Amino acid sequence: MQVNPYRALMEDRDDLALSLADLYDRPAWMRDALCREPAYRDVEWFPGRGQPADEAQAICARCIVRPECLAYALTLDRDTPGIWAGTSSRSRRPLRAAVHREAMRRPA
Ligand code: SF4
Repeated sequence: MQVNPYRALMEDRDDLALSLADLYDRPAWMRDALCREPAYRDVEWFPGRGQPADEAQAICARCIVRPECLAYALTLDRDTPGIWAGTSSRSRRPLRAAVHREAMRRPA
């Protein structure tokens, strides 16, 4: 079963379907993810279209692994849902495009 990496990040404490391979393959920085704290489990990390994401974004603003989180999020499928590093799926699109453009400009 393919596990959404973001949901795996958020739900590993009680997601019995999560395999050991999923845990092993997870980037080390996720251990320090503020969104994994039990106090933030009820935060809306997957707001629907037009729903506010302020609470999740405020938590991300204080997270020490925000740069790593954003870099990782930009490697994921463009439609990957959820708030990552304070960004939404929609707001990540231009960032992903900028990273792609920069990569194309670099000499091989
Ligand atoms: S930046 Fe936000 S989504 Fe990313 S690990 Fe930190 S709290 Fe979680």
